[in-house]
Amino acid sequence: MALRSAAGRPQKLRKYSLQTGIVYGPVESRRLGLSLGINLLPTSYKLCSFNCVYCQYGWTKKGTLAPIQELADLPSLEAIAAAIESALEQLSGAGKTVDSITICGNGEPTLYPDLRGVIEIAKRERDRYQPQARLAILSNSSTVGDPVVREALDLLDLKIMKFDAGSEEIFRQLNHPRAPIYMGDIVAGLKELKNIMLQSLFVQGRVTNADPDSVCLWVEKVREIRPLGVQVYTLEREPADERIGKVSLATLQWIAEEVRWRAGVPVDVF
Ligand code: SF4
Repeated sequence: MALRSAAGRPQKLRKYSLQTGIVYGPVESRRLGLSLGINLLPTSYKLCSFNCVYCQYGWTKKGTLAPIQELADLPSLEAIAAAIESALEQLSGAGKTVDSITICGNGEPTLYPDLRGVIEIAKRERDRYQPQARLAILSNSSTVGDPVVREALDLLDLKIMKFDAGSEEIFRQLNHPRAPIYMGDIVAGLKELKNIMLQSLFVQGRVTNADPDSVCLWVEKVREIRPLGVQVYTLEREPADERIGKVSLATLQWIAEEVRWRAGVPVDVF
């Protein structure tokens, strides 16, 4: 697929496929170092509470906030425990170490009904086989209004939480959340969580969150949330909506300066 950048140059974006098992990698990640991934979600489709225009897995065909219908497609806690233990035992047996063990995968991991159970298992096996590794999650933040989810998340070393939009309108255009998810509730939930990193992806085209007005609204909310830091980045993989494209490195650097200057929060550009 070839998109056009603002400067008119074709952009080459890689396709990305669903994870085919519970544990995958380790993969070299720009943000997490060498990371072993844990997928709590189905392997034949993406299960998510959002339908982001930039999703690397394509459009969300199964959207939910409570995966009651999809329970049969989710791995059991026993299967997750066995997969994590086996992968970490093999890594350690081969004398290899990872920087992170990261819960992410084919959609939104906090939809898994026993998130706390998974985190406790992952911590136990991490302590046993790879004590240097940080236990992390990549979440879209849609469930942070739930205190049970927040308590589970607070057991992790690193919580990287999606936050791309500073208004309900942009949030709906960009992330297409399932009802009834509102940006205001996400901001309130993120403020309740301790020591979070925000992950914010910027795009332009049919939908944009990188114009000055959108960035201004978003920085205001970042200032309210007061995260440990913000990771700003743009498309790296083929998006669900082909009418959106990457923003330039200069735009990302300008956004980062806005956050440092106006919100007083550290920023990394990826
Ligand atoms: S939250 Fe993540 S998995 Fe879900 S649609 Fe958005 S980018 Fe895709």
